Amino acid sequence: MDYREPNLTISGKDFMEANSLGVYAWFRGGIALYVGYSQCPIGRIGHHNVIGSVDRVLPSDEFRFWAFDDPRKALLFEQQLEAELGPKYSLPLKRGEVRKVPCAVCRTKFVQKRWWQKFCSTKCRTGKGWSK
Ligand SMILES: [Zn+2]
Repeated sequence: MDYREPNLTISGKDFMEANSLGVYAWFRGGIALYVGYSQCPIGRIGHHNVIGSVDRVLPSDEFRFWAFDDPRKALLFEQQLEAELGPKYSLPLKRGEVRKVPCAVCRTKFVQKRWWQKFCSTKCRTGKGWSK
């Protein structure tokens, strides 16, 4: 086997901090796109309903992590960060802004209330009501 250099190396400290309860944020060009809270932020961003889905991640984007011991402090920090940065994809659509997108199941176009909504109805989201 040929040795090759790893593409990425993270320290144990970085690993522990990104895996511990806290707040994470997705930035592009210094502007926050998304702010969230998780028990395991690094795992959370790997399969996210917004990150990489509503918008794809670009090589120049950044992810930032803040570890907390106390979940209440983390949630408060998340709220403060959201209020301060106004991340586009964490917040409801702006008043008067209308985004019509096709439902992921039935393809019917519907008006989104939030950026990450993918289904036109609970029926399509849960799959209930279609099977006989
Ligand atoms: Zn549908």
